[in-house]
Amino acid sequence: MEELIERAGDFIINSRLTLALTGAGISVESGIPDFRSAGGLWSRFDPAEYATIAAFRANPEKVWGMLREMGQVVDQARPNKAHVGLGELEKMGYLHHIITQNIDNLHQEGGSRNVIEYHGNSSTLSCLWCGKRYGTDEKRDEVPPRCECKRILKPDVIFFGEAIPQDALNRSFQLASSARALMVIGTSAVVSPVNTIPSIAKQNGAKIIEINKERTHLTDSMTDIFLEGSAGLIVSDLVAAVKKKGEM
Ligand code: NAD
Repeated sequence: MEELIERAGDFIINSRLTLALTGAGISVESGIPDFRSAGGLWSRFDPAEYATIAAFRANPEKVWGMLREMGQVVDQARPNKAHVGLGELEKMGYLHHIITQNIDNLHQEGGSRNVIEYHGNSSTLSCLWCGKRYGTDEKRDEVPPRCECKRILKPDVIFFGEAIPQDALNRSFQLASSARALMVIGTSAVVSPVNTIPSIAKQNGAKIIEINKERTHLTDSMTDIFLEGSAGLIVSDLVAAVKKKGEM
């Protein structure tokens, strides 16, 4: 493992544009369950039944039952060593952008500035009918939160079946096309279209460093270095290796 971390560190040091693509797995050590591992929130709330825009439109009260629980978990979560480590890499100038599928704001809380939120953010709510937007905090006591037009509000996170924000889509595509190194951290890479980012980067010559506690469909098809283990531990070791090399 030490040798793999050293090699990954070399890729990062020698890359003029490095990205990280992160998924739910990076926030598991902060106490937010991912979709696909056993146990937790998603074994009670099937994403197909609760996380689609069709489900929200059909029965927003029911979906808010899940959103409230998810919101409580996210509110209590604090950035872990992986979020903080990526923030440090950015400050050192070795990580240029994070593209995250997460809606938990933990990258920003962990010190990262250049974060593209591919699936939106849970800190605001919008009305699907009149378009008015509110801060989540302002509506914290309303269950479910309603717009002044009386309709039930939707958090500004992307549900399955909704379009990805155009800006996030375009910037991610451009960055992936010119990246020299891509860290893929804590994602099963099965959700589309965000899962096209590793192949776009790879086709354009980027080295792919994958950090996951399990192998994924990327591991044998496009990953150059697979660092198996928990994101907190591996990212910390990788940051330490990059720091050491940067000082040499
Ligand atoms: P996923 O649940 O499909 O996959 C999680 C991946 O992380 C798995 O490959 C798993 O092996 C790995 N993993 C779990 N714990 C880990 C750890 N400690 N260290 C390293 N790897 C670990 O998640 P996904 O690929 O992100 O796709 C799920 C979708 O659900 C995304 O679109 C995301 O928007 C959403 N989601 C977000 C959050 C959040 O904001 N924190 C939480 C749950 C789901």
